[in-house]
Parts: sequence; structure tokens; C-alpha cells
Amino acid sequence: MTGCVVGIDLGGTAIKAAVADVNGNVLAQGSIDTQSHDGPSRVLQRIADHVIQLRRRCSDGGVNITSVGMGVPGLVDVQSGVSKFLPNFPTQWRDIPITAQLSDSLGCPVNILNDVRTATLGELRFGRGRGRRNLSMAFFSLGTGVGGGVVIDGRLRLGPLGAAGELGHQTMQPNGRRCGCGNHGCLETIASGPAIAAEGVRLMRMGLAPRLYELVDGDSGLVTTQQMSIAANDDPLIRQAIEQAANYIGIAASNVVTILHPEMIVLGGGVAQIGALLVDTVRKVITERVGMFPTDGVTVLASELGDQAGVLGAIALADTTLTDTTLAESTLGAIALGRDPLGPTNT
Ligand SMILES: [Zn+2]
Repeated sequence: MTGCVVGIDLGGTAIKAAVADVNGNVLAQGSIDTQSHDGPSRVLQRIADHVIQLRRRCSDGGVNITSVGMGVPGLVDVQSGVSKFLPNFPTQWRDIPITAQLSDSLGCPVNILNDVRTATLGELRFGRGRGRRNLSMAFFSLGTGVGGGVVIDGRLRLGPLGAAGELGHQTMQPNGRRCGCGNHGCLETIASGPAIAAEGVRLMRMGLAPRLYELVDGDSGLVTTQQMSIAANDDPLIRQAIEQAANYIGIAASNVVTILHPEMIVLGGGVAQIGALLVDTVRKVITERVGMFPTDGVTVLASELGDQAGVLGAIALADTTLTDTTLAESTLGAIALGRDPLGPTNT
């Protein structure tokens, strides 16, 4: 029997999973609907069933799962493997012993971590940070919400609650809109996908975005940041709206650069698909706003892994065993340096 690890990305609507060999090469991957209304116990059982199915697809089932990593969308206790608060799930999964149930079903150790921190780990190990020893990097996940992760000297910084790196909840406008976290004027209220799209819809309804109107046939429900980035070539106000959001992301990134001086800022999530207009604006704002030291060495890049960052990060997370010492100190730091990059994937 060949040993292999499993990475799982638990999302609000879909669960992705991948089986990888000891070198990190993906042997099989798939996804299932989350169906979170079923409740934690049944969702976790379906995850285990899915993993067992994927395992059977590898080498006629001749592989043995040695460990599992899973990214979870919310606050989790990484040491005890218990979820604390998943805001987008019914009942919020408070105090659900995730690792205990999955370990029982799969017969191996399971590690869990917040999903954006897991994606950060994916980008560090297998994406933009691949092969870079002692890299310091900040990862912005710009999607329905804005999350983040911070890597210092090659180690994912988690803090005592695994909650360090919430880059989307830094205050940008002291008297701004109320954020889901309870604060006012967080980056998320200005630069999340829905926040940018809402500005696009407003301009379209005022008759100020004719190209966007044409692209979505006047249906405001179809306005996305991707549609807006296409319309930006012809609608100057849509371009301005994107630049304004990108400017705020740039200010947030400048704060991170001033505090940590990372070598790399990585922009992920659906909003990052805006591409050059976003990346160039963020780079320009960093150059303009960070005055304490030269920023030539700070690169700004769109995520290399896209929506695969979560499941690949979970593979990296699987490849470790939690001990009494803290995760940040002992394990994630080690796996950040340990294995070879991912090879080609087979689906
Ligand atoms: Zn917030």
C-alpha cells in the first residue's frame, strides 16, 4: 500500500477534495455539494464518503491515507480540531468536533485550519511562494468577503486563535458602512466582490455604464467584477469604480508592507480576476504610500493557483502532525520548507 494525503476545502456551496502522494502530486480530485442544511454530522460523513471514493480511484484503491488537512470557512480551534464559528453555515457549527469525527471515519489524523489561511499555505507551498525559502508574504483573498493570511520568514503566522491575518477587516473609513464583523468601514465593505458589483449596478441604473448594461442585458443580478472589468475598457466610470476599489486594496497592502516589509503581496479570490488593472493599481499605491523604505523588492502578483489554492493548501496542511507545541512554531513552518512542488494534476 502506498501512503497518501488528502486535502479538503470546505465551502458554503461546494466541498473540494484531492488525494496526493507523498511528493504532493495530485492522484485524484473531485467535488460534491455541501448541502449545509443537512447539519454538521451528515456533512462530515459525506466528506468522509467522498474521500473514500476518491481513494478507490487511485491505483485501484491500493493507497493508504496517512493524514488529512481541511480548510474550514470560519474560526476553528486548530489544537483541538473543533469549529467555533462558521458564519455562513446553519447553526454556525459551534463546538463541532470536526477532526474527531473525520478521524473516526477515515482512521487517520486530521488537521483543520481557517480556509483563507489554508489557501495562503497553498500559495506559499505550491503557488507564488514555491521554492522560496524564508519568504515573507501577505495573501489577500478578495471574494464574497475579504480574508487574508500572513507568512513571516517562511512560516504562516496564526496567532493564539489561528485568526491572525484578517487583512480584510482593517479600517479604511472610520465612519464607513457597518461590516459583517461589527466594525465600520473595513476593507471588505469597499473591496469585496459584492461591494464592487453594487457600485457597478448603481452606475448602470443611472445610465452611466452603457457597455456594462449591454454585457448583462440590463440585469443587475448578472453584474460581477469580471463583467465590470470587461466593461471598463469602454465605460470610464466603471473603470473608475474598479480603480477606486483597487486603490483601497492598495492602501491596505501599503499598511501591511509598512508593518511587515514582505517580499510579496499575492492577490487571490474572484476579484483578483480583474487582472492587470487591479495588480498595477495596488503596486502603484504601495510605491506612492510607503515612504519609510524603498519598496522595489516588494512584488505584487495575482494568485497562481486561483480557486485551487484552498484544496492544495489543505494537502500541505495534511502533511504534518499537530503536537503540543504551537502550530505556527512547529509544523506549518516546517512543511513550508519540506516537500517538492505539486506535479501535474489528474482529475
Ligand atoms: Zn470587518
